[in-house]
Amino acid sequence: MTTAIPCSTDSRGAPTQLDLREHSMPAYPQIGLFIGGGWRQTTATTPVLNPADDCEIGRVPRATAADLDDAVAAAVAGFAVWRATSPDARCRIMLRASDLLRERIDEIAHVMTLEQGKPIAQSRSEILRACEIIDWDANEGRRLYGRQIPAGPGMTHIVVREPLGVVAAFAPWNFPISSPARKVAGALAAGCSVILKAAEETPASAVLLARAFQDAGLPDGVLNLVFGVPSEISSHLIASPAVRLVTFTGSVPVGKRLASLAGEHMKPAIMELGGHCPVFVCDDVDVDEVARQSAMVKARNAGQVCVAPTRFYVDRRIHDAFVEAFAHHAATLRIGDGLDPDVTMGPLANRRRLDAMENLVLDAVARGGVAVTGGARHGNRGYFYPMTVLKDLPDDARCMVEEPFGPLALITPFGDLDEAIGKGNALPFGLAAYGFTHDADRVAAMSARVECGNLAINHYTASSAETPFGGVKDSGYGREGGIEGLLCYTSAKNISHLTRPTVHSTR
Ligand code: NAD
Repeated sequence: MTTAIPCSTDSRGAPTQLDLREHSMPAYPQIGLFIGGGWRQTTATTPVLNPADDCEIGRVPRATAADLDDAVAAAVAGFAVWRATSPDARCRIMLRASDLLRERIDEIAHVMTLEQGKPIAQSRSEILRACEIIDWDANEGRRLYGRQIPAGPGMTHIVVREPLGVVAAFAPWNFPISSPARKVAGALAAGCSVILKAAEETPASAVLLARAFQDAGLPDGVLNLVFGVPSEISSHLIASPAVRLVTFTGSVPVGKRLASLAGEHMKPAIMELGGHCPVFVCDDVDVDEVARQSAMVKARNAGQVCVAPTRFYVDRRIHDAFVEAFAHHAATLRIGDGLDPDVTMGPLANRRRLDAMENLVLDAVARGGVAVTGGARHGNRGYFYPMTVLKDLPDDARCMVEEPFGPLALITPFGDLDEAIGKGNALPFGLAAYGFTHDADRVAAMSARVECGNLAINHYTASSAETPFGGVKDSGYGREGGIEGLLCYTSAKNISHLTRPTVHSTR
Protein backbone atom coordinates (compact mmCIF):
# COMPACT_ATOMS: atom_id res chain seq x y z
CA MET A 1 0.00 0.00 0.00
CA THR A 2 1.29 3.46 -0.84
CA THR A 3 0.84 6.31 1.58
CA ALA A 4 2.17 9.80 1.93
CA ILE A 5 4.83 9.51 4.61
CA PRO A 6 6.01 12.89 5.87
CA CYS A 7 9.43 13.67 4.47
CA SER A 8 11.50 16.68 3.53
CA THR A 9 10.18 17.83 0.21
CA ASP A 10 10.13 21.00 -1.81
CA SER A 11 6.96 22.67 -3.04
CA ARG A 12 6.59 20.12 -5.86
CA GLY A 13 6.93 17.17 -3.51
CA ALA A 14 10.49 16.41 -4.63
CA PRO A 15 12.80 15.11 -1.93
CA THR A 16 15.06 17.85 -0.69
CA GLN A 17 18.67 17.07 -1.26
CA LEU A 18 19.96 18.14 2.10
CA ASP A 19 17.58 16.19 4.28
CA LEU A 20 19.81 15.78 7.31
CA ARG A 21 18.65 12.92 9.46
CA GLU A 22 19.16 13.46 13.11
CA HIS A 23 21.15 10.26 13.55
CA SER A 24 23.32 10.62 10.52
CA MET A 25 25.59 13.34 9.39
CA PRO A 26 26.53 13.77 6.61
CA ALA A 27 23.45 14.24 4.51
CA TYR A 28 21.58 11.50 2.74
CA PRO A 29 18.43 12.38 0.78
CA GLN A 30 14.99 10.91 1.34
CA ILE A 31 14.45 8.25 -1.31
CA GLY A 32 11.18 8.26 -3.20
CA LEU A 33 9.59 6.68 -6.23
CA PHE A 34 9.31 9.17 -9.11
CA ILE A 35 6.16 8.45 -11.08
CA GLY A 36 4.39 10.74 -13.54
CA GLY A 37 6.43 13.74 -12.43
CA GLY A 38 5.62 13.29 -8.70
CA TRP A 39 7.52 11.78 -5.78
CA ARG A 40 5.89 9.21 -3.55
CA GLN A 41 6.72 7.13 -0.52
CA THR A 42 5.65 3.61 0.39
CA THR A 43 4.95 1.97 3.73
CA ALA A 44 7.33 -0.92 3.02
CA THR A 45 10.99 0.05 2.88
CA THR A 46 14.43 -1.59 2.90
CA PRO A 47 17.52 -0.19 4.66
CA VAL A 48 20.39 1.35 2.71
CA LEU A 49 23.80 0.69 4.30
CA ASN A 50 27.06 2.61 4.18
CA PRO A 51 29.62 -0.01 3.05
CA ALA A 52 32.40 1.80 4.93
CA ASP A 53 30.84 1.11 8.35
CA ASP A 54 27.80 -1.13 7.76
CA CYS A 55 25.50 1.53 9.30
CA GLU A 56 22.05 2.35 7.99
CA ILE A 57 21.99 5.68 6.16
CA GLY A 58 18.48 5.67 4.72
CA ARG A 59 15.51 3.61 3.58
CA VAL A 60 14.51 2.72 0.06
CA PRO A 61 10.80 2.33 -0.77
CA ARG A 62 9.39 -0.87 -2.21
CA ALA A 63 7.01 -0.27 -5.10
CA THR A 64 3.74 -2.19 -5.10
CA ALA A 65 2.10 -3.65 -8.20
CA ALA A 66 -0.18 -0.59 -8.21
CA ASP A 67 2.87 1.73 -8.18
CA LEU A 68 4.30 -0.17 -11.13
CA ASP A 69 1.02 0.06 -13.04
CA ASP A 70 1.03 3.80 -12.38
CA ALA A 71 4.60 4.00 -13.66
CA VAL A 72 3.63 2.20 -16.87
CA ALA A 73 0.61 4.45 -17.41
CA ALA A 74 2.77 7.53 -16.76
CA ALA A 75 5.44 6.31 -19.17
CA VAL A 76 2.85 5.68 -21.89
CA ALA A 77 1.54 9.24 -21.47
CA GLY A 78 5.09 10.56 -21.29
CA PHE A 79 6.03 8.79 -24.50
CA ALA A 80 3.15 10.43 -26.38
CA VAL A 81 4.46 13.85 -25.33
CA TRP A 82 8.15 13.11 -25.81
CA ARG A 83 7.95 11.54 -29.24
CA ALA A 84 6.03 14.64 -30.40
CA THR A 85 8.74 16.91 -28.96
CA SER A 86 11.27 18.10 -31.55
CA PRO A 87 14.73 16.54 -31.40
CA ASP A 88 16.13 20.02 -30.84
CA ALA A 89 13.88 20.65 -27.81
CA ARG A 90 14.68 17.19 -26.41
CA CYS A 91 18.37 17.91 -26.80
CA ARG A 92 18.11 21.20 -24.91
CA ILE A 93 16.33 19.60 -21.95
CA MET A 94 18.92 16.84 -21.77
CA LEU A 95 21.82 19.31 -21.93
CA ARG A 96 20.21 21.32 -19.15
CA ALA A 97 19.99 18.15 -17.02
CA SER A 98 23.69 17.47 -17.46
CA ASP A 99 24.48 21.10 -16.61
CA LEU A 100 22.53 20.64 -13.37
CA LEU A 101 24.46 17.47 -12.56
CA ARG A 102 27.71 19.39 -13.02
CA GLU A 103 26.45 22.23 -10.82
CA ARG A 104 25.50 19.71 -8.10
CA ILE A 105 28.59 17.56 -8.39
CA ASP A 106 29.85 18.09 -4.82
CA GLU A 107 26.58 17.04 -3.27
CA ILE A 108 25.96 14.08 -5.59
CA ALA A 109 29.52 12.78 -5.27
CA HIS A 110 29.23 12.89 -1.49
CA VAL A 111 25.97 10.91 -1.54
CA MET A 112 27.34 8.38 -4.03
CA THR A 113 30.40 7.70 -1.91
CA LEU A 114 28.23 7.34 1.20
CA GLU A 115 26.05 4.66 -0.36
CA GLN A 116 28.48 2.94 -2.71
CA GLY A 117 31.86 3.40 -1.03
CA LYS A 118 34.04 4.50 -3.95
CA PRO A 119 36.58 7.28 -3.29
CA ILE A 120 35.09 10.73 -3.66
CA ALA A 121 37.34 11.59 -6.64
CA GLN A 122 35.97 8.54 -8.48
CA SER A 123 32.40 9.58 -7.66
CA ARG A 124 33.13 12.99 -9.17
CA SER A 125 34.64 11.56 -12.32
CA GLU A 126 31.71 9.17 -12.68
CA ILE A 127 29.29 12.12 -12.56
CA LEU A 128 31.33 13.94 -15.21
CA ARG A 129 31.32 10.80 -17.36
CA ALA A 130 27.54 10.58 -17.00
CA CYS A 131 27.34 14.20 -18.19
CA GLU A 132 29.50 13.44 -21.23
CA ILE A 133 27.23 10.53 -22.11
CA ILE A 134 24.08 12.61 -21.73
CA ASP A 135 25.58 15.43 -23.83
CA TRP A 136 26.74 13.13 -26.60
CA ASP A 137 23.46 11.23 -26.80
CA ALA A 138 21.45 14.47 -26.63
CA ASN A 139 23.28 15.86 -29.64
CA GLU A 140 23.34 12.59 -31.57
CA GLY A 141 19.57 12.29 -31.10
CA ARG A 142 19.26 15.22 -33.52
CA ARG A 143 21.05 13.18 -36.17
CA LEU A 144 18.85 10.08 -36.30
CA TYR A 145 18.26 10.85 -39.97
CA GLY A 146 17.16 7.58 -41.55
CA ARG A 147 17.92 7.19 -45.26
CA GLN A 148 16.48 7.12 -48.74
CA ILE A 149 17.02 4.05 -50.91
CA PRO A 150 17.15 4.36 -54.72
CA ALA A 151 14.21 2.72 -56.47
CA GLY A 152 12.56 2.57 -59.89
CA PRO A 153 10.57 5.42 -61.48
CA GLY A 154 7.73 6.65 -59.31
CA MET A 155 8.87 4.62 -56.29
CA THR A 156 10.50 6.10 -53.19
CA HIS A 157 11.84 4.08 -50.26
CA ILE A 158 12.42 6.05 -47.08
CA VAL A 159 13.75 4.38 -43.93
CA VAL A 160 12.88 6.24 -40.74
CA ARG A 161 14.09 5.41 -37.24
CA GLU A 162 11.16 5.43 -34.83
CA PRO A 163 11.50 5.40 -31.03
CA LEU A 164 10.46 2.00 -29.69
CA GLY A 165 8.29 3.37 -26.87
CA VAL A 166 8.42 2.67 -23.15
CA VAL A 167 11.79 1.27 -22.00
CA ALA A 168 12.19 -0.78 -18.80
CA ALA A 169 15.76 -0.12 -17.62
CA PHE A 170 17.52 -2.06 -14.82
CA ALA A 171 20.75 -0.51 -13.54
CA PRO A 172 23.33 -1.90 -11.09
CA TRP A 173 24.99 -0.56 -7.94
CA ASN A 174 28.60 -0.37 -9.13
CA PHE A 175 28.08 2.78 -11.23
CA PRO A 176 25.06 4.38 -9.53
CA ILE A 177 24.95 7.44 -11.83
CA SER A 178 26.72 6.61 -15.07
CA SER A 179 24.98 3.31 -15.70
CA PRO A 180 21.44 4.71 -15.24
CA ALA A 181 22.48 7.84 -17.16
CA ARG A 182 23.64 5.74 -20.09
CA LYS A 183 20.31 3.95 -20.30
CA VAL A 184 18.20 7.05 -19.72
CA ALA A 185 20.21 9.21 -22.15
CA GLY A 186 20.08 6.66 -24.97
CA ALA A 187 16.35 6.15 -24.55
CA LEU A 188 15.47 9.85 -24.24
CA ALA A 189 17.69 10.88 -27.15
CA ALA A 190 15.90 8.35 -29.34
CA GLY A 191 12.49 9.69 -28.24
CA CYS A 192 11.53 6.87 -25.82
CA SER A 193 10.19 7.18 -22.28
CA VAL A 194 11.74 5.22 -19.42
CA ILE A 195 10.88 3.34 -16.26
CA LEU A 196 14.20 3.03 -14.46
CA LYS A 197 14.68 0.48 -11.70
CA ALA A 198 17.94 1.56 -10.16
CA ALA A 199 19.82 -0.53 -7.60
CA GLU A 200 18.29 -0.66 -4.12
CA GLU A 201 21.83 -0.56 -2.67
CA THR A 202 22.57 2.86 -4.22
CA PRO A 203 19.21 4.58 -4.70
CA ALA A 204 20.07 8.18 -3.83
CA SER A 205 22.36 8.68 -6.81
CA ALA A 206 19.51 7.66 -9.12
CA VAL A 207 17.11 9.94 -7.23
CA LEU A 208 19.47 12.88 -7.81
CA LEU A 209 19.79 11.95 -11.49
CA ALA A 210 15.99 11.92 -11.87
CA ARG A 211 15.82 15.17 -9.95
CA ALA A 212 18.20 16.81 -12.44
CA PHE A 213 15.98 15.77 -15.36
CA GLN A 214 12.89 16.95 -13.50
CA ASP A 215 14.48 20.34 -12.79
CA ALA A 216 15.64 20.58 -16.41
CA GLY A 217 12.00 20.56 -17.52
CA LEU A 218 11.56 16.98 -18.69
CA PRO A 219 7.81 16.49 -19.19
CA ASP A 220 5.99 14.39 -16.59
CA GLY A 221 6.11 10.65 -17.16
CA VAL A 222 9.04 10.67 -19.60
CA LEU A 223 11.34 9.39 -16.85
CA ASN A 224 10.02 7.32 -13.96
CA LEU A 225 12.08 5.81 -11.17
CA VAL A 226 11.10 2.78 -9.10
CA PHE A 227 12.70 0.57 -6.45
CA GLY A 228 11.54 -2.56 -4.71
CA VAL A 229 11.96 -6.32 -5.02
CA PRO A 230 13.98 -6.66 -8.24
CA SER A 231 12.44 -9.94 -9.43
CA GLU A 232 8.90 -8.66 -8.84
CA ILE A 233 9.57 -5.41 -10.68
CA SER A 234 11.24 -7.05 -13.67
CA SER A 235 8.54 -9.70 -14.13
CA HIS A 236 5.78 -7.10 -13.77
CA LEU A 237 7.28 -4.56 -16.15
CA ILE A 238 8.55 -6.97 -18.79
CA ALA A 239 5.13 -8.64 -19.01
CA SER A 240 3.39 -5.30 -19.46
CA PRO A 241 2.32 -4.91 -23.12
CA ALA A 242 3.19 -1.18 -23.01
CA VAL A 243 6.88 -1.90 -22.34
CA ARG A 244 8.70 -2.26 -25.65
CA LEU A 245 12.38 -2.72 -24.73
CA VAL A 246 14.30 -4.16 -21.78
CA THR A 247 17.80 -2.97 -20.90
CA PHE A 248 19.75 -4.57 -18.06
CA THR A 249 23.25 -4.26 -16.63
CA GLY A 250 24.24 -6.84 -14.04
CA SER A 251 25.22 -10.46 -13.60
CA VAL A 252 25.01 -13.17 -16.26
CA PRO A 253 22.45 -15.33 -14.37
CA VAL A 254 20.04 -12.42 -13.83
CA GLY A 255 20.62 -11.26 -17.41
CA LYS A 256 19.69 -14.68 -18.75
CA ARG A 257 16.54 -14.66 -16.63
CA LEU A 258 15.49 -11.23 -17.91
CA ALA A 259 16.43 -12.06 -21.50
CA SER A 260 14.23 -15.14 -21.40
CA LEU A 261 11.34 -13.11 -19.94
CA ALA A 262 11.84 -10.55 -22.71
CA GLY A 263 11.86 -13.34 -25.29
CA GLU A 264 8.64 -14.80 -23.87
CA HIS A 265 6.97 -11.45 -24.41
CA MET A 266 8.72 -10.82 -27.77
CA LYS A 267 10.61 -7.74 -26.59
CA PRO A 268 14.04 -6.69 -27.77
CA ALA A 269 16.67 -6.45 -25.04
CA ILE A 270 20.04 -4.86 -24.40
CA MET A 271 22.04 -7.09 -22.05
CA GLU A 272 25.25 -5.68 -20.57
CA LEU A 273 26.42 -8.55 -18.37
CA GLY A 274 29.57 -9.63 -16.64
CA GLY A 275 33.14 -9.95 -17.81
CA HIS A 276 36.34 -11.71 -16.79
CA CYS A 277 38.62 -9.55 -18.85
CA PRO A 278 41.97 -10.86 -20.07
CA VAL A 279 45.05 -8.66 -20.44
CA PHE A 280 47.90 -9.76 -22.71
CA VAL A 281 51.20 -8.19 -21.67
CA CYS A 282 54.00 -8.77 -24.19
CA ASP A 283 57.72 -8.46 -23.54
CA ASP A 284 58.26 -5.23 -25.54
CA VAL A 285 56.59 -2.90 -23.01
CA ASP A 286 57.72 -0.76 -20.10
CA VAL A 287 56.97 -3.39 -17.46
CA ASP A 288 56.85 -1.06 -14.48
CA GLU A 289 54.56 1.43 -16.23
CA VAL A 290 52.10 -1.24 -17.42
CA ALA A 291 52.09 -2.80 -13.94
CA ARG A 292 51.45 0.62 -12.38
CA GLN A 293 48.54 1.38 -14.70
CA SER A 294 47.16 -2.12 -14.17
CA ALA A 295 47.20 -1.81 -10.37
CA MET A 296 45.55 1.62 -10.46
CA VAL A 297 42.85 0.57 -12.91
CA LYS A 298 42.20 -2.67 -11.03
CA ALA A 299 41.71 -0.64 -7.82
CA ARG A 300 39.07 1.56 -9.43
CA ASN A 301 35.74 0.99 -7.70
CA ALA A 302 37.56 -1.72 -5.67
CA GLY A 303 37.58 -3.91 -8.77
CA GLN A 304 33.77 -3.96 -9.04
CA VAL A 305 33.76 -3.07 -12.70
CA CYS A 306 32.53 -5.35 -15.47
CA VAL A 307 35.49 -4.28 -17.67
CA ALA A 308 38.08 -4.55 -14.87
CA PRO A 309 41.30 -6.20 -16.02
CA THR A 310 41.38 -9.55 -14.21
CA ARG A 311 43.31 -12.35 -15.92
CA PHE A 312 46.79 -11.02 -16.70
CA TYR A 313 48.62 -13.23 -19.22
CA VAL A 314 52.19 -11.99 -19.10
CA ASP A 315 55.14 -13.04 -21.31
CA ARG A 316 57.17 -15.51 -19.28
CA ARG A 317 60.34 -13.39 -19.71
CA ILE A 318 58.83 -10.44 -17.83
CA HIS A 319 56.36 -12.31 -15.59
CA ASP A 320 58.30 -12.11 -12.31
CA ALA A 321 59.18 -8.44 -12.80
CA PHE A 322 55.53 -7.69 -13.61
CA VAL A 323 54.25 -9.48 -10.49
CA GLU A 324 56.77 -7.65 -8.33
CA ALA A 325 55.96 -4.26 -9.84
CA PHE A 326 52.20 -4.87 -9.59
CA ALA A 327 52.53 -5.76 -5.90
CA HIS A 328 54.73 -2.72 -5.33
CA HIS A 329 52.16 -0.34 -6.85
CA ALA A 330 49.28 -2.13 -5.10
CA ALA A 331 51.05 -1.40 -1.80
CA THR A 332 50.83 2.34 -2.52
CA LEU A 333 47.01 2.22 -2.52
CA ARG A 334 45.41 3.85 0.46
CA ILE A 335 42.38 1.82 1.56
CA GLY A 336 39.67 3.46 3.67
CA ASP A 337 36.43 5.42 3.77
CA GLY A 338 35.94 6.98 0.34
CA LEU A 339 34.95 10.30 1.94
CA ASP A 340 38.59 10.76 2.99
CA PRO A 341 40.12 12.58 -0.01
CA ASP A 342 43.44 10.74 0.43
CA VAL A 343 41.84 7.31 0.07
CA THR A 344 42.43 5.60 -3.30
CA MET A 345 40.47 2.37 -2.73
CA GLY A 346 37.19 2.23 -0.83
CA PRO A 347 35.26 -0.73 0.58
CA LEU A 348 33.42 -3.30 -1.48
CA ALA A 349 29.85 -2.19 -2.03
CA ASN A 350 28.12 -4.91 -0.02
CA ARG A 351 28.71 -7.94 2.16
CA ARG A 352 28.05 -10.33 -0.74
CA ARG A 353 31.20 -9.09 -2.47
CA LEU A 354 33.27 -9.41 0.72
CA ASP A 355 32.13 -13.02 1.18
CA ALA A 356 32.85 -13.71 -2.50
CA MET A 357 36.44 -12.40 -2.22
CA GLU A 358 37.11 -14.47 0.90
CA ASN A 359 35.77 -17.65 -0.70
CA LEU A 360 37.56 -17.17 -4.03
CA VAL A 361 40.91 -16.54 -2.34
CA LEU A 362 40.52 -19.50 0.03
CA ASP A 363 39.83 -21.73 -2.98
CA ALA A 364 42.78 -20.29 -4.95
CA VAL A 365 45.24 -20.84 -2.12
CA ALA A 366 43.90 -24.36 -1.49
CA ARG A 367 44.68 -25.16 -5.14
CA GLY A 368 48.27 -23.98 -4.92
CA GLY A 369 47.83 -20.31 -5.79
CA VAL A 370 50.08 -17.80 -4.01
CA ALA A 371 48.81 -14.48 -2.68
CA VAL A 372 51.75 -12.16 -3.31
CA THR A 373 49.95 -9.33 -1.56
CA GLY A 374 46.58 -9.01 0.20
CA GLY A 375 44.54 -12.19 0.63
CA ALA A 376 42.52 -11.40 3.77
CA ARG A 377 39.84 -8.94 4.84
CA HIS A 378 41.07 -5.48 5.83
CA GLY A 379 39.83 -4.57 9.33
CA ASN A 380 36.57 -5.84 10.80
CA ARG A 381 34.21 -2.93 10.16
CA GLY A 382 32.69 -2.20 6.76
CA TYR A 383 33.44 -4.32 3.69
CA PHE A 384 37.11 -3.58 3.03
CA TYR A 385 39.24 -6.04 1.07
CA PRO A 386 42.76 -5.16 -0.11
CA MET A 387 44.21 -5.50 -3.60
CA THR A 388 45.17 -9.15 -3.86
CA VAL A 389 47.71 -10.31 -6.41
CA LEU A 390 47.51 -14.06 -7.03
CA LYS A 391 50.03 -16.11 -9.03
CA ASP A 392 50.69 -19.81 -9.75
CA LEU A 393 46.98 -20.40 -10.25
CA PRO A 394 45.63 -23.47 -12.01
CA ASP A 395 43.28 -22.61 -14.89
CA ASP A 396 40.39 -24.21 -13.03
CA ALA A 397 40.73 -22.22 -9.80
CA ARG A 398 37.30 -20.70 -9.14
CA CYS A 399 38.61 -17.14 -9.47
CA MET A 400 39.98 -18.02 -12.93
CA VAL A 401 36.52 -18.99 -14.19
CA GLU A 402 34.03 -16.99 -12.06
CA GLU A 403 33.91 -13.22 -12.38
CA PRO A 404 35.58 -12.01 -9.14
CA PHE A 405 34.03 -8.51 -9.31
CA GLY A 406 36.48 -7.31 -6.70
CA PRO A 407 40.19 -6.45 -6.25
CA LEU A 408 41.73 -9.76 -7.37
CA ALA A 409 44.52 -9.62 -9.97
CA LEU A 410 45.32 -13.07 -11.38
CA ILE A 411 48.73 -13.24 -13.07
CA THR A 412 49.76 -16.15 -15.30
CA PRO A 413 52.87 -16.50 -17.50
CA PHE A 414 52.69 -17.37 -21.21
CA GLY A 415 55.28 -18.58 -23.68
CA ASP A 416 53.26 -18.18 -26.84
CA LEU A 417 50.80 -15.34 -27.52
CA ASP A 418 48.43 -17.53 -29.56
CA GLU A 419 48.16 -19.92 -26.66
CA ALA A 420 47.47 -17.02 -24.27
CA ILE A 421 44.73 -15.69 -26.56
CA GLY A 422 43.23 -19.20 -26.58
CA LYS A 423 43.15 -19.15 -22.77
CA GLY A 424 41.70 -15.64 -22.80
CA ASN A 425 38.88 -16.87 -25.04
CA ALA A 426 38.28 -20.07 -23.08
CA LEU A 427 35.65 -18.61 -20.72
CA PRO A 428 32.04 -17.95 -21.74
CA PHE A 429 32.58 -14.20 -21.12
CA GLY A 430 33.49 -11.78 -23.91
CA LEU A 431 33.16 -8.20 -22.72
CA ALA A 432 36.45 -6.26 -22.79
CA ALA A 433 40.07 -7.31 -23.35
CA TYR A 434 43.38 -5.45 -23.22
CA GLY A 435 46.70 -5.86 -24.97
CA PHE A 436 50.06 -4.24 -24.25
CA THR A 437 52.60 -4.37 -27.08
CA HIS A 438 54.11 -2.13 -29.76
CA ASP A 439 54.45 -4.97 -32.24
CA ALA A 440 51.98 -4.57 -35.15
CA ASP A 441 51.78 -8.31 -35.81
CA ARG A 442 50.81 -9.01 -32.21
CA VAL A 443 48.21 -6.22 -32.34
CA ALA A 444 46.83 -7.77 -35.53
CA ALA A 445 46.66 -11.21 -33.88
CA MET A 446 44.77 -9.84 -30.88
CA SER A 447 42.45 -7.74 -33.06
CA ALA A 448 41.55 -10.75 -35.17
CA ARG A 449 41.30 -13.43 -32.51
CA VAL A 450 40.26 -12.03 -29.14
CA GLU A 451 36.56 -12.70 -28.57
CA CYS A 452 35.14 -9.53 -27.01
CA GLY A 453 33.08 -6.43 -27.69
CA ASN A 454 35.82 -3.96 -26.73
CA LEU A 455 39.56 -4.41 -27.21
CA ALA A 456 41.93 -1.70 -25.95
CA ILE A 457 45.58 -1.73 -26.98
CA ASN A 458 48.14 0.00 -24.73
CA HIS A 459 45.53 1.66 -22.53
CA TYR A 460 42.65 0.82 -20.21
CA THR A 461 39.72 2.91 -21.46
CA ALA A 462 37.24 0.32 -22.66
CA SER A 463 34.55 2.75 -23.81
CA SER A 464 33.60 6.39 -24.23
CA ALA A 465 30.38 8.24 -24.99
CA GLU A 466 30.85 8.01 -28.75
CA THR A 467 31.89 4.37 -28.98
CA PRO A 468 29.67 1.28 -28.84
CA PHE A 469 30.04 -0.76 -25.66
CA GLY A 470 28.83 -4.31 -25.04
CA GLY A 471 29.78 -7.94 -25.17
CA VAL A 472 29.68 -11.22 -27.02
CA LYS A 473 28.88 -14.71 -25.70
CA ASP A 474 27.55 -14.70 -22.10
CA SER A 475 28.57 -11.06 -21.68
CA GLY A 476 25.42 -10.09 -23.51
CA TYR A 477 24.17 -8.39 -26.63
CA GLY A 478 23.03 -5.02 -27.86
CA ARG A 479 25.20 -1.96 -27.37
CA GLU A 480 25.26 1.10 -25.16
CA GLY A 481 26.97 4.28 -26.35
CA GLY A 482 27.78 5.53 -29.82
CA ILE A 483 25.29 5.56 -32.67
CA GLU A 484 24.98 1.77 -32.29
CA GLY A 485 23.63 2.32 -28.77
CA LEU A 486 21.09 4.90 -29.86
CA LEU A 487 19.83 2.73 -32.68
CA CYS A 488 18.98 -0.02 -30.16
CA TYR A 489 16.21 2.25 -28.86
CA THR A 490 14.65 2.62 -32.30
CA SER A 491 13.05 0.44 -34.91
CA ALA A 492 13.52 0.92 -38.64
CA LYS A 493 10.36 1.65 -40.58
CA ASN A 494 10.54 1.50 -44.35
CA ILE A 495 8.02 3.65 -46.14
CA SER A 496 7.68 2.89 -49.89
CA HIS A 497 5.72 5.41 -51.82
CA LEU A 498 4.54 4.78 -55.38
CA THR A 499 3.60 7.90 -57.28
CA ARG A 500 2.45 8.20 -60.87
CA PRO A 501 5.55 7.59 -63.02
CA THR A 502 6.89 10.77 -64.57
CA VAL A 503 6.49 10.66 -68.36
CA HIS A 504 9.63 11.95 -70.03
CA SER A 505 9.37 13.42 -73.49
CA THR A 506 11.57 11.57 -76.01
CA ARG A 507 11.59 14.48 -78.47
P1 NAD B 1 22.82 -10.03 -8.62
O1 NAD B 1 22.96 -10.82 -9.83
O2 NAD B 1 21.91 -10.52 -7.55
O3 NAD B 1 22.30 -8.54 -8.94
C1 NAD B 1 22.90 -7.73 -9.92
C2 NAD B 1 21.95 -6.54 -10.17
O4 NAD B 1 20.77 -7.03 -10.76
C3 NAD B 1 21.48 -5.81 -8.90
O5 NAD B 1 21.44 -4.42 -9.16
C4 NAD B 1 20.09 -6.36 -8.62
O6 NAD B 1 19.24 -5.40 -8.02
C5 NAD B 1 19.60 -6.67 -10.01
N1 NAD B 1 18.72 -7.81 -10.05
C6 NAD B 1 18.88 -8.99 -9.39
N2 NAD B 1 17.85 -9.82 -9.69
C7 NAD B 1 17.04 -9.14 -10.53
C8 NAD B 1 15.82 -9.46 -11.19
N3 NAD B 1 15.24 -10.67 -11.07
N4 NAD B 1 15.27 -8.51 -11.98
C9 NAD B 1 15.85 -7.30 -12.13
N5 NAD B 1 17.00 -6.95 -11.55
C10 NAD B 1 17.59 -7.86 -10.75
O7 NAD B 1 24.24 -9.86 -8.07
P2 NAD B 1 24.91 -8.88 -7.04
O8 NAD B 1 25.33 -9.65 -5.83
O9 NAD B 1 24.17 -7.62 -6.81
O10 NAD B 1 26.19 -8.56 -7.90
C11 NAD B 1 27.11 -9.60 -8.11
C12 NAD B 1 27.36 -9.87 -9.53
O11 NAD B 1 26.65 -9.05 -10.41
C13 NAD B 1 28.81 -9.59 -9.82
O12 NAD B 1 29.55 -10.75 -9.60
C14 NAD B 1 28.82 -9.18 -11.24
O13 NAD B 1 29.02 -10.33 -12.03
C15 NAD B 1 27.44 -8.72 -11.52
N6 NAD B 1 27.35 -7.29 -11.78
C16 NAD B 1 27.70 -6.86 -13.00
C17 NAD B 1 27.62 -5.52 -13.29
C18 NAD B 1 28.02 -5.02 -14.65
O14 NAD B 1 28.38 -3.86 -14.75
N7 NAD B 1 27.91 -5.83 -15.69
C19 NAD B 1 27.19 -4.63 -12.33
C20 NAD B 1 26.81 -5.10 -11.07
C21 NAD B 1 26.89 -6.46 -10.81
